[in-house]
Amino acid sequence: MAAIPSVLITGASTGIGATYADRFARRGHDLVLVARDRQRMEALATRLRQHTGVTIDIIQADLTQTAELALVEARLRDDARIGVLINNAGTALGGSFIEQSTDAVERLVALNTTALLRLASAVAPRFVKAGAGTIVNIGSVVGLAPEFGMTVYGATKAFVLFLSQGLSLELGPKGVYVQAVLPAATRTEIWGRAGADVNAMTGMMEVDELVDAALVGFDRREAVTIPPLPDVDQWNAYEAARQVMLPNTRQEHAAERYRR
Ligand code: NAP
Repeated sequence: MAAIPSVLITGASTGIGATYADRFARRGHDLVLVARDRQRMEALATRLRQHTGVTIDIIQADLTQTAELALVEARLRDDARIGVLINNAGTALGGSFIEQSTDAVERLVALNTTALLRLASAVAPRFVKAGAGTIVNIGSVVGLAPEFGMTVYGATKAFVLFLSQGLSLELGPKGVYVQAVLPAATRTEIWGRAGADVNAMTGMMEVDELVDAALVGFDRREAVTIPPLPDVDQWNAYEAARQVMLPNTRQEHAAERYRR
């Protein structure tokens, strides 16, 4: 792997992905940008090439389409220059569970979980063989909170957190760094795409601030980075409560309260 590895970023045409592209280009990394809107990626690439001189490739792909996703998987498997995968592409869906169509929730799951998983799976064996590499998965605080009323979206983000933590345990000892980033409400187009008026909302983080904070966590090699959370001890206590409970889950007999 090169001293400054290339970075493949999904959902790089706008928002969080485009901001990651800007930051990695400034750090001198060559890029591979992936999204559906080629024109926007071309415009971003032109600007970043001019300002930073890095090499930028573009893959136009709808990651919910198996054949197009396979092109990105192949690039990750075969291109040894790529040492960082930013698994960022994702979307949200307005409405309650019964208002969302079955096809729409399937598409949401396909992008937010299946595509992210397949890309990680495509690249991980090569990273392990090299003893180096990084996978950054963009989750959401919504994945911690069924109470927020974004049930399917939150479920996909709970998947992203679990997958990231599991991969960190599995791949970390083999030299691969895995980071889960959990933004909260951040000013991007995702809200408009889901039918919400971002300008009517308060408490939004600006996308530059979100990505810069996520990169502080990245540079510190944090397994889980929650940029808006003021007190990291709250996250640590949440994780510690899980660890206290876990050893009690393996029992020969059902708990007393379930015995007739
Ligand atoms: P965004 O501004 O809507 O950008 C989403 C990106 O994903 C775009 O580049 C879009 O590009 C790409 N994309 C969407 N559907 C795609 C598809 N089918 N195939 C390939 N690319 C696709 O959203 P964002 O806020 O930056 O979101 C980035 C990630 O952050 C997502 O995983 C999201 O869940 C997460 N997140 C966001 C927030 C927030 O408040 N903004 C909070 C928590 C987590 P094209 O349209 O060109 O394909």
